[in-house]
Amino acid sequence: MLRPKTKIRRNPGKNATPTIPVSLKKGRISMAKCSVCFRHCDIPDGKLGFCGGRTARDGVTEAFNYGRVTALALDPIEKKPLARFYPGSRILSVGSFGCNLRCPFCQNYDISWSEQARKYAETAETVSPETLVDIALETRARGNIGIAFTYNEPLIGYEFVRDTAKLAQDAGLKNVMVTNGTAELAILRELAPYIDAMNIDLKGFSDRYYTDVLGGSRKMVLAFIEEAVKNSHVELTTLIVPGENDTEDEMRELSQWVSRLRNPDGEAVPLHISRFFPRFHMQDRDATNVRTVYRLAEIAREKLPYVYTGNC
Ligand code: SF4
Repeated sequence: MLRPKTKIRRNPGKNATPTIPVSLKKGRISMAKCSVCFRHCDIPDGKLGFCGGRTARDGVTEAFNYGRVTALALDPIEKKPLARFYPGSRILSVGSFGCNLRCPFCQNYDISWSEQARKYAETAETVSPETLVDIALETRARGNIGIAFTYNEPLIGYEFVRDTAKLAQDAGLKNVMVTNGTAELAILRELAPYIDAMNIDLKGFSDRYYTDVLGGSRKMVLAFIEEAVKNSHVELTTLIVPGENDTEDEMRELSQWVSRLRNPDGEAVPLHISRFFPRFHMQDRDATNVRTVYRLAEIAREKLPYVYTGNC
């Protein structure tokens, strides 16, 4: 784990960004509607939205987790995972707290949506975009190519991603975002000019799984991916969960859809198929059989040239 060496500052108010132009007055309490993701939370002033990472002030929503760093590490780029973007390099990976989905098997539950994650809202220290870029530049000699916004869901605090990525780009660094892809296209379009590569979860290909198990929106994710490939190198990740998204038919449908996409360089979009392990609130089943992962990867390869297996 890397620790910031330079001065840490808290609550940079200048970064508050309206996500809707007007506030809703309910009685005497000012409310703001967040337009970052499909939940469109109505947030009373000083309270948190569903994700725990956004708040409202004077009827305007802002990133409550702005620069609030819970994890900072220099990771191999393959760990994001990105297989076809500067292979062999490393990237300074930063995470905050909060998430807008509710995946019961979350590997990072301590910073996403557990009781522990809520505690980070009080204890996480704030690192400015300038400090983070300084750390990224200092670690260049160790193979670092830039900054990855990862670990928790970065889009719920997109203002920090935007402000940091702009500075990083000016400094000649690359920017990577690892995301569940559950945000409005307006948010993606604001970030896209600064994001060189993304790994986006495509967690399955049924609305039932996205809605009932993950608390998400498959429709929003598909639209996000289609837009993301226009500007950034995109790779996708599907975690195979026994009994949820592990049929050959579903993988055929998913890989068929992915095969229509092209990255900005004209290449096919890589797909990472990874193995589930029982974690957090989903401990009622075994880890995915390795043979199932390999078989589903074979099926995906009927449509896609770049398919990788993980956690096997
Ligand atoms: S980003 Fe958070 S606050 Fe905004 S709509 Fe989604 S869950 Fe609600």
